[in-house]
Amino acid sequence: MCILARMKIEQNIALKSLLENPQKTVIVPHKSPDGDAMGSCLGWKILLEKIGHTATVISPDHYPNFLKWIPGSDEVLIYEDSPEVAQKHLLQADSIFVLDFNSLKRIGDMGDFIGDCKAKKIIIDHHRDPEDFADLLISYPEIGSTCELVYHLISTMGQSDLIDKNIATALYVGILTDTGSFRFPSVTPTTHKVVAHLIECGAEHSEISNKIKDTASLGRLQLLGIALNNLHYIEDLRTAYITLSTEELNSCNYQKGDTEGFVNYGLSIEGSVLAIILIENKQEGYVKMSFRSKGTFSVNDFARTHFNGGGHHNAAGGRIEKSLVETVEYLLEKLELCRGDLQVAY
Ligand code: 5GP
Ligand code: MN
Repeated sequence: MCILARMKIEQNIALKSLLENPQKTVIVPHKSPDGDAMGSCLGWKILLEKIGHTATVISPDHYPNFLKWIPGSDEVLIYEDSPEVAQKHLLQADSIFVLDFNSLKRIGDMGDFIGDCKAKKIIIDHHRDPEDFADLLISYPEIGSTCELVYHLISTMGQSDLIDKNIATALYVGILTDTGSFRFPSVTPTTHKVVAHLIECGAEHSEISNKIKDTASLGRLQLLGIALNNLHYIEDLRTAYITLSTEELNSCNYQKGDTEGFVNYGLSIEGSVLAIILIENKQEGYVKMSFRSKGTFSVNDFARTHFNGGGHHNAAGGRIEKSLVETVEYLLEKLELCRGDLQVAY
């Protein structure tokens, strides 16, 4: 079942030789890390420690509370809180693994710092169009989550026996969240075999789902109410979009992660092929956007072309330095350009 059987032989040799001697490693998720970013970083950290390396996970910024129970979370450093401590680790590192992203721009200032570090850089990721900054690129856009990719890497390295309850739990989190609970087209029979093995290794699937899905604050649910109330559906473009202003976020005591998953509601409208959420950050002067699509319409291309972003074919993000009202206007213009594609999308 190892999907990486065809992993480029030179990649395999390079990874093995890199990890031959004890290393000081740092592992980095993308900004605003999600379940896949944190799950893969922590699963990989525990594995690296088990095979004799030191491993420190440094997140560029804070991550949502509903992920803070993942094994190893209590040792995660936050770059924006203590840049000097984090920079010391990065300067001393022999190797820096970046997981679940492939462009240093995605981690802001921390990316500039890492770019200048002498450590070997290794990308382990499943997004398209990786940037050329790594000494070793392990990129599989066809795999649904970085956690699944990390599982295959561990297998390829002949270390499956080391997958214990903690590693299994961390990797299960990212597979669960990045597949929309096993719904997205990226899910394959192999994904289910991986998950079956993770459960055999001790991942408690029901408890993990409860911790991820059933830990909402009252504020999050109230914000969902506002989001659904603000949902617009443009029937002839088969597109739904949601806006959330800074005032609306504040009125619900917005915490990081509270809007996770809201965008998907737009795709549950019968016939819709594109859903977008626009979240205003007035203080910083930008609007953060998430894009989701069904079928042929590429939100990766749409976000890259118009919203300084990118991601996957059916799930992407971006941001733009405009007001919320201006962004909606701009979005409507850009959607109009895609009228043909949206109408024939399936
Ligand atoms: P989300 O909408 O959940 O923030 O992100 C959806 C997907 O797009 C994730 O895989 C995420 O890593 C990617 N993504 C989000 N924002 C950006 C961005 O600004 N640039 C790029 N290249 N990818 C992004
Ligand atoms: Mn991912």
